[in-house]
Amino acid sequence: MRKIVFGPVPSRRLGYSLGVNNVYDKYCSYSCIYCQAGRTTRLVIDRMKFYDVDELVQQVIVEANKKKPDVVSFVPNGEPTLDINLGREAELIKKELNLPLAIFTNSSLLTRQDVLDDLMFFDIVSVKVDTVKHETWRKINRPHPRLCLEEILDSIKSFSKQYKGRLITETMLVKGVNDNEEEYESIAEFIAGLRVDKVYIQAPIRPPAEKWVKPPSEDEFTKAYHIFHKYLGGKVELLISSEPKSFKFTDNLVEEIASTIYVHPIRIDYVSELAVKYGKNAEHIIDELLRNKIAKIVEYEGKKFLVPAIRR
Ligand code: SF4
Repeated sequence: MRKIVFGPVPSRRLGYSLGVNNVYDKYCSYSCIYCQAGRTTRLVIDRMKFYDVDELVQQVIVEANKKKPDVVSFVPNGEPTLDINLGREAELIKKELNLPLAIFTNSSLLTRQDVLDDLMFFDIVSVKVDTVKHETWRKINRPHPRLCLEEILDSIKSFSKQYKGRLITETMLVKGVNDNEEEYESIAEFIAGLRVDKVYIQAPIRPPAEKWVKPPSEDEFTKAYHIFHKYLGGKVELLISSEPKSFKFTDNLVEEIASTIYVHPIRIDYVSELAVKYGKNAEHIIDELLRNKIAKIVEYEGKKFLVPAIRR
């Protein structure tokens, strides 16, 4: 049986988040230069069936009851709204679990009514707004050629007016790509026109799809924060440091780490701390993951991470 559920991982936004990887690796409508899941191998915009609905829902229920997360999040290594069964899955999970349900989407399919209908089942929806400029969008998100940025931005705007849950925006800043005042002004002005609860400015903190991707300087983040704050006040938050270290795993650490790094690379020093917590030997765990070609070690910004061995 495929492992569709991973974690819970400590989310800087939501607490302990049980992740649902509801699409295959790596189906996405974007191929973002900073993607922590590597380059997109299937650049698609048509919705399709991935996993069996009952199997997915059952896995979520079993893992949630066992691990007691704060939230269940659809945050796959790909675009979750490509899953044609998304709404049904969300509806069934909501019926069975008394937990908030979140989804992190790149927003590109919000132009479709069936996607909008599915998102209404979620308590928290996070939409991606890295830029509102066409040229920058092509550079940073590398979208499917049939997508249109203007239509996507319009659909985010109208979704924000209809949606009654908690709406979050996420803006990833990449050095030399969208880290300038013109970008900050135009993005913040656009987001100010939405009915939004929280606005995150992020930095690439895990190994990106393209090795040359770097976070902007701290000065740039401060500048971005002030400009966003001018439009959005206290809704703005910077997410530019590492997530909390504490993962909620069981004592089968090799299997837990293997399913988690598939979607969420883990720092080597965190693996060591986890091993101590569960009375295991970190070197043995890492060695087993490397020897069985499940994981490899990648260095980014002076930190070592475990990522899937098959990562592009
Ligand atoms: S960051 Fe998200 S939207 Fe971008 S390529 Fe990765 S999975 Fe797709």
